[in-house]
Amino acid sequence: MADTQKCAHPICKCTVAPGGPHGKFCSDHCKESGQKTELRCDCQHLACR
Ligand SMILES: [Zn+2]
Ligand SMILES: [Zn+2]
Repeated sequence: MADTQKCAHPICKCTVAPGGPHGKFCSDHCKESGQKTELRCDCQHLACR
């Protein structure tokens, strides 16, 4: 089993390793935007460009 899960941000496509520096999110961007609805993810990761 892969030990990664999707970023907790609804529109983010990134995967996050458990125990990462941003918790359930892939980045601080997603962490701060997690409660808002955005048109697209802007976390700068390749999966979201
Ligand atoms: Zn993203
Ligand atoms: Zn994310």
